[in-house]
Parts: sequence; C-alpha cells; structure tokens
Amino acid sequence: MYIPFHKPYITEDEVSGLLDTVRSGWLTMGPKTFEFEREFLSYVGSEHAVAVNSGTSALHLALKAIDLKEGEEVIVPTMTFTATAEVVCYCNAKPVLVDIDRTTGNIDISAVEKAITPRTRAIIPVHYGGLPCDMDQISDIAEANKLFVIEDAAHSLPASYKGKPVGSIGDLTCFSFYATKPLAAGEGGMVTTENEEWAERMRILRLHGISKDAWKRYSNGGSWYYEVLETGYKYNMTDLQASLGLSQLRKLDKMWEMRKHIAQKYTEAFSDVEQLITPYLNSDRVSSYHLYALKINPGVLNIDRAEFIEILKERGIGTSVHFIPLHRHPFYQNAFSYGVEDFPEAEWVYERIISLPIYPGMSEAEVGYVIQTVTDVCEKHRK
Ligand SMILES: *Cc1c(COP(=O)(O)O)cnc(C)c1O
Repeated sequence: MYIPFHKPYITEDEVSGLLDTVRSGWLTMGPKTFEFEREFLSYVGSEHAVAVNSGTSALHLALKAIDLKEGEEVIVPTMTFTATAEVVCYCNAKPVLVDIDRTTGNIDISAVEKAITPRTRAIIPVHYGGLPCDMDQISDIAEANKLFVIEDAAHSLPASYKGKPVGSIGDLTCFSFYATKPLAAGEGGMVTTENEEWAERMRILRLHGISKDAWKRYSNGGSWYYEVLETGYKYNMTDLQASLGLSQLRKLDKMWEMRKHIAQKYTEAFSDVEQLITPYLNSDRVSSYHLYALKINPGVLNIDRAEFIEILKERGIGTSVHFIPLHRHPFYQNAFSYGVEDFPEAEWVYERIISLPIYPGMSEAEVGYVIQTVTDVCEKHRK
C-alpha cells in the first residue's frame, strides 16, 4: 500500500467545468473569475472578494491595500510558510516573528502584545492547520493599538470562529487555492474584505495598475481606452483556475465532512497512545481539518521525529512537516538576526510534529492502514 501525503479531490465536475471554459474561448480573467468571486463571497459572508493568481499574491495585495510602507513592521507567527512573511519584505517592511501557543499551533497573543512598537502596522495571524486563532483577542489588541488584521487563511476554508466564517472576520482575509489546499485550483488565491475602497485598489493592482478591468476592452461594449494609475502587478486569476475553483467550492462542505471524519478516526485511535499527542480543537471554533498535525512524545520513544517520518515512508505513508519555523531558515536568521532561543514554544512543537495524510477520497482501508502503522511504530520504538 502507498498512501501519498496529499491527493486533490478531482471528479467529473472539475473536468467538465474546465472543458466548458476551454471551449468558451475565454481563458484568462473574465466571466468565470467574476462568477467565482460572487459565489465565494456569498459562501464566506463577506462584502468583496478579489481573485488573484496565488495566496502569496493575495497577502501581498492585502498589504498594498493598507498601504504598508518601507520601514514599517508587521507581526507574523514563526510557525508558518515563508509566504506569510516574505510579502512583508516585498514592501521593504520588516516581518516581526513571534512565538506560538504549543497547544493550538496558533500565534501567541501575549507575544504579539510584546512585539508591538510605534512602527507596527498590522498583524497577520495564521489559522494553523485550519484551526482559527483567537480572533476576539487579536481584534482587541489591534483596535487598542490601531493595527490592521490580515488573516492568512490559506488553511482555513471552511472554518469559523464563534459562528462567524473565516473570511468575514478580520480587515482582510487571504485564501490560497494551491494544489494541496482545501479548495484546490492548481494555483490561485482570494482576498475578502468589507472595505470597498481596498477591494477596488486590489482589483486595479492585480492587473498592472490599470484603471478599468482590461478584459472589458475586448468585449462587445468595451472601449479601447484605459489608464495606468500606479505600478501594478500581474496577479490576475485565469478563468481556467476559476472554473476549477467553482467546481471545488460547490462541494466544499462535502470535502470538509470527509476530512473531519478522517481526523475523528485518527484522534479516536491515537488519544490513548502515550507516545502521541493529538491536535487540539477549541470548542468555540470549527476547524477546516486541513492538516492533521500529530505530535510525537520524544520522552517515551527511542526514535526522533525525522526517524519516525523515515519509517512511515518505508512503510508506504507520505507525511510532511508544517512547518520548519521561519526563524530556522537562513534568510530570516541573516536578515533579521532571529535565533532558535527566541522561540521556545515553536521549537518544542517543531521537534514533535508530523502531518499525516488527510484528504477527501482517502478510503477507510487507507485511514486504517495509517492508524495501524503509526500505532505499530509507537509500540516497536517505545523507550
Ligand atoms: C500555502 C500557503 C500560503 C501561500 O499560498 P500560495 O497559494 O501557495 O501562494 C500562505 N500561507 C500559508 C500558511 C500557506 O500554507
């Protein structure tokens, strides 16, 4: 048996939707993209949705929307993918890395408070693995210090905090539709916001800073005239991605149910295993179950995390590690002098985490095989 870490859930819906789009002759940003934006914003309950070509572009445009300037600071958890922080560098601003809470994997609220300086403009909480951060506490800190909250929701579709869907909470929320994310369009991203001015600016910036959606130039009623207002980007989504996105959006709830079922099976099986710590779930929020980040308990095992992963690989199970904290990467160490001693909680988590396969379409037999193998490795390598 070989079980990859991830497989996108692609059925006939995606294939026929994509073929329709190809046959329509409209390949780049156009009617499908706008249809996807409309359905997406009604799904998450936001006012505006701006589709782009990646989650990274979404984060970058969100920072442009708040007009982040050179020398300013943005607070980012260290336990994330480099995209969350690199976009701050795109603006010649400084990503200020902070530690996380070891239980949830989410940003540590007290560390955020300590990191605020007069140069701080925004906080980018990451809903780790799909579990929403404590948004009430984050909003309170942001309000008290006049900071913007830009949520990195790359993992958290669908997810909710105290009944509010992620995408309708912070000032700006950024989603990713990368191939392994809960809604997979190959590549793609979306920013949601209640602020019309920001949405308009991001629409302009995603296509070269052009004043009018350029696609209209070529349609029947369109005119040839347009104006470049500022340095923009080539960040637009294509209708090919949007048609995949639409098919995936329409079965998002079903895919969520399937991941939730797998997470429950894992937790049921592992919660009594002394060598393992199962992912935490807060009772006031709903996770997307994007990741199942299992932790090992090194005190009672005679192998470390890397060896555990190697053994699972030999036995046909693909896994991953989310994440190698940013402060461990040469770039962040060299550019900002971060060191492992500054982030004890993230270090504690990093030493222990293994992301197990969790995706819609995984069979009961495959889930059973993962459970049996992980349990068996724990038993064989008990200290
Ligand atoms: C995947 C990911 C991103 C970037 O999304 P892309 O669509 O790959 O650009 C940003 N933040 C986090 C936490 C991610 O996992």
